[in-house]
Amino acid sequence: MIRTDALVIGGGLSGLRCAEILSEKYNTLVISDGYGASPYIHGICIPLSDEDSVECFIGDTMKSGKYQSDRALVRTLCEGAQALAGEFEFDRREDGSYDLLRPLGSSVARVASIHEHTGSHVMADIGKRNRFEMKKLRALRLLVKEGRVCGALCYDRETESFVTISARCVCLATGGFGGIFPFSTNSSDIGGDGIAMAYLAGAALRDMEFIQYEPTAALSPAALLGKGVITTMLYEGATFRNGKGQPFLKAERVDKDVLSKAIYREILRGEATENGGVFYDATAVPRDILMQKYKSYYERYLNVGIDITREMMEVAPAPHTTLGGVVIDTTCQTTVSGLFAMGEVTGGLHGANRLGGNAGLETLVFGKIAGESAVAFLDADTAPLPQVADISCKNQPCDCAQIHTRVRKIAQNALGVIRNGEKLSRGKEELLSLIEALAPYLAESGCYAFDAMRAYNDALTILLTIESALARKSSLGAHERDDAIHEDERYTLYLAREQGLKKEILYE
Ligand SMILES: Cc1cc2nc3c(=O)[nH]c(=O)nc-3n(C[C@H](O)[C@H](O)[C@H](O)COP(=O)(O)OP(=O)(O)OC[C@H]3O[C@@H](n4cnc5c(N)ncnc54)[C@H](O)[C@@H]3O)c2cc1C
Repeated sequence: MIRTDALVIGGGLSGLRCAEILSEKYNTLVISDGYGASPYIHGICIPLSDEDSVECFIGDTMKSGKYQSDRALVRTLCEGAQALAGEFEFDRREDGSYDLLRPLGSSVARVASIHEHTGSHVMADIGKRNRFEMKKLRALRLLVKEGRVCGALCYDRETESFVTISARCVCLATGGFGGIFPFSTNSSDIGGDGIAMAYLAGAALRDMEFIQYEPTAALSPAALLGKGVITTMLYEGATFRNGKGQPFLKAERVDKDVLSKAIYREILRGEATENGGVFYDATAVPRDILMQKYKSYYERYLNVGIDITREMMEVAPAPHTTLGGVVIDTTCQTTVSGLFAMGEVTGGLHGANRLGGNAGLETLVFGKIAGESAVAFLDADTAPLPQVADISCKNQPCDCAQIHTRVRKIAQNALGVIRNGEKLSRGKEELLSLIEALAPYLAESGCYAFDAMRAYNDALTILLTIESALARKSSLGAHERDDAIHEDERYTLYLAREQGLKKEILYE
């Protein structure tokens, strides 16, 4: 058994940022199973131009999220942005002004970047001043005793055994769950564990039905499958063409959800490319702009023999960031004592559609807040820590690969860009029977089976997402139903283990 003051689950930017603060005062262990989505962050929103302001930023974020976002979380995000300009060296032009990109749905240029690789630069910066311990372990269950979270059951792939970690508080930073989908922009370490663990521990979830699709994920060549191509190029002259090479969309000033749906409809119309996508044509983007702002994309394609100044990219919408997740307040406290959450595993900030550049900003602003809140929690925590039993044991092999593959396919079929009640209900039924098939491997005592727990966590996460998508009978933002029933009321969907699914009416 491992003992620590604070356990941070996730080694992306949210987790690292939180651990950095926590480790100044407390023994902190960060566990992760990879680097998540954070290294791929191109840039983050910061209102730095003369025409921008915190209020304008709040307005754009609320509008982009279709006014479904938690306003207090949005204000915290936008007010927390500017301090970052003093902390990190963002790119500037020769005249000293910030070199900003304009994300889709934004009224001004606002995305600041560090040489197109903001995520990896900031992660390296935090790594240099790191005072916390890091281990490669995958968490599968949170340990809850006497109403508080006090550790986690984790898996060590190297020793093929389960490890118990006892902690006085846990900070959840496992990222989104887009990696469950067979075709997505996410890396394979991104799955449903975080959502499943939090839900099983009693934490409330919200907005699970909103999954943001990247309109422009590479379909070919195979070496680039799922790699997202930045959409800000649309402001520099890039366009879309269907399989026949015909332009089909005027993309100026639309949100990502609108773009994904338009591309998906063109594909459904039978005008797709050979591989079932469309062409993203950057040949009209002036060469100097391409080289100056998008060199990494140019080089990425050139490495596989495609010159994007002359040839088009074949793309299709793919799940990119998940917008729903664990309910938090502005201090990153969840609805369970001892459990904090931040970053993409949380819900409420982005509403029904995320403004480009806000997810990266979220990791830095809320990662810091989570660290500060966890420190305050530990400072005030004088009660003896409930003793957790050591449930470490060897892995029990199980033949669950087919079930897991099926779960991924259900996610893709039921939770596509455009959904309907029939597909969602069919997906739900099948998931329930797969979960039943996994039950014999999920013994709560004795030995655990890693593959079964992973498949179960992903299945549960998709089931909760489908439940929410079924409950929202109208279309809104990233949730589009072709059988939508128009309703005027605005509502937010909450899910909690004991209370089931609850609808809270919004009066905007
Ligand atoms: C290709 C790509 C490009 C993007 N570009 C941008 C951009 O330019 N701007 C922007 O604002 N946003 C961007 N996003 C979104 C943004 O990257 C993410 O929302 C953000 O990085 C999430 O950070 P996080 O720390 O919450 O999670 P992540 O960075 O995803 O990290 C999650 C961590 O948790 C670990 N983990 C997961 N499950 C477990 C488990 N069970 N046990 C232990 N560890 C676990 C993972 O290994 C990883 O270390 C992009 C996303 C992608 C996929």
